[in-house]
Amino acid sequence: MNNLKAINISKTYSIDGYDIEVLNELNLTINKGDTVAISGQSGSGKSTLLQILALLDKQSSGSIELNGDTTDNLSSNQKSQIRLNNFGFVYQHHHLLEDLSVYENIALPLQLKGDLLDLDIKVRDLAKSIGLSNRLNHLPWKLSGGEKQRVAVARAMINKPQYIFLDEPTGNLDKKNASNIQKLVMELSHDNGIALIVATHDNDFVSLLNRKYYLDNRGLVSI
Ligand code: ADP
Ligand code: MG
Repeated sequence: MNNLKAINISKTYSIDGYDIEVLNELNLTINKGDTVAISGQSGSGKSTLLQILALLDKQSSGSIELNGDTTDNLSSNQKSQIRLNNFGFVYQHHHLLEDLSVYENIALPLQLKGDLLDLDIKVRDLAKSIGLSNRLNHLPWKLSGGEKQRVAVARAMINKPQYIFLDEPTGNLDKKNASNIQKLVMELSHDNGIALIVATHDNDFVSLLNRKYYLDNRGLVSI
């Protein structure tokens, strides 16, 4: 069983005595290599869903299963290990570490894992595929927005995760750079059998993904 499963996921935030119910009994199964679009209005719960699927936030009820095993009772350390080994992340803002070079940013997940075998080859291969071989020694501030996002994609891909979560990954980019990122993500996902879960407003991106959902009224509607 090679999948990531959300089973009857509900999420309510409580702030200042108010309860905000964001997700209600939501179900979703993501199989190897699936590409999933999650669109929906701002505030509909897309980021919340991605955070719960990625074990970064905890659902109020329901279960997240990875490869047939429940993750609900794992410690935060165990969840970190799962994330490091299985998940990659790309956000609207690139979240690169500003003090590290492009090379060091891309290499970071492998270094955190202690997976140093062929690290240099892996980083250089990926840098080539994102078209930034000549920028490896630069700090992020020297790059354009689109280039930074390409580095963020490379960093998410370097440990060949089973799943990559992308939360509005092209939200800060112009049309040309957005299109470059979309093509890059689709190509790397296809070549490596990586499942994509993309929260996006971008209809061009949605059209490239196989399974399309709209988050509405606290649940997913297939579109
Ligand atoms: P989207 O990504 O679709 O814009 P979010 O998942 O960010 O939506 O937010 C869904 C709802 O949950 C919004 O009403 C938001 O204000 C609320 N929300 C998100 N995170 C928190 C939090 N940490 N505490 C309280 N409310 C939150
Ligand atoms: Mg969001």
